Amino acid sequence: MSIDRTEEDIFSSLPLYQSVRMDSEYGPALIRLLYNEGNFDSYCPFCKERSTFYYECATERLKYESVERSHAGVKRLLRSSNSNFKPATCGRDPAHTIECYYRITYPTKQEIAEYAGDSSFDTNNLRRFEKVGQTPSQFDFAEAELKKYAKLLETVDLENLRKAIISSTHGYGASAFLYSRRVFERLIESKRSEAEGAGTKIESTARMDEKVKGLAEFLPDFLVENSHIYAILGKGVHELTDEECVALFPVIRESVIAILEDDREAKEREMRKSKLKKDIAGISSLLGKKNEEGN
Ligand SMILES: [Zn+2]
Repeated sequence: MSIDRTEEDIFSSLPLYQSVRMDSEYGPALIRLLYNEGNFDSYCPFCKERSTFYYECATERLKYESVERSHAGVKRLLRSSNSNFKPATCGRDPAHTIECYYRITYPTKQEIAEYAGDSSFDTNNLRRFEKVGQTPSQFDFAEAELKKYAKLLETVDLENLRKAIISSTHGYGASAFLYSRRVFERLIESKRSEAEGAGTKIESTARMDEKVKGLAEFLPDFLVENSHIYAILGKGVHELTDEECVALFPVIRESVIAILEDDREAKEREMRKSKLKKDIAGISSLLGKKNEEGN
């Protein structure tokens, strides 16, 4: 089970002090980030919206080649000159820098010996990356992003989502799944009572997949189409390790937000429609009165 992680995940969701192997799901992004120059899209805690971040390679060759580069590029490069420090700067403003300190640990002789008979195995894969510091902190990332949703979401959902994100940034992945599951369950329960009011009865004891099926017309499309997310959340809570849950959490977080946004948009659409309906009725009666006056 693995989903390749991005550079953004390394900054925004890989917890401090969790060491990951170079052949883990973080591997491809780590190799790009540590040994190449490049860019990635990420939420910028300073702009408070998504932006493109740029990073430089710290090799000597690049240092010389970069003399002609833009001011921002040279600044990035100078910051990269310490190999255990990785900055990335926002494309909108070079002062918006996200930075992490890290260490690389090398495999022990014993670990290497385990692969002695396997000539196809690259023992570089056994190196481990571990973040030992970061600014802005992952909490800052999460807080800034959550603020964006503050007006959009119910307080209780926002709180559960905040707890899920905080759990994940501290490495408690199963707990992050648990809080995400609460958001999911609360939404289903509120739709169940909404449906009951409209004459559709779904038992509270019904299985979750049956509830989703029965409540399809009341639920956000994204949730109905991806209802297996509930089974994934359950698997995370009961079977997966904290590390596995942390690695999968960015997808869960985005999915939960997509579901809540869908729901909120549908509610706003309904409110707009009912207001328009009232306004139109008002205009009709006004025109009716005018006609009567005219007669
Ligand atoms: Zn920015």
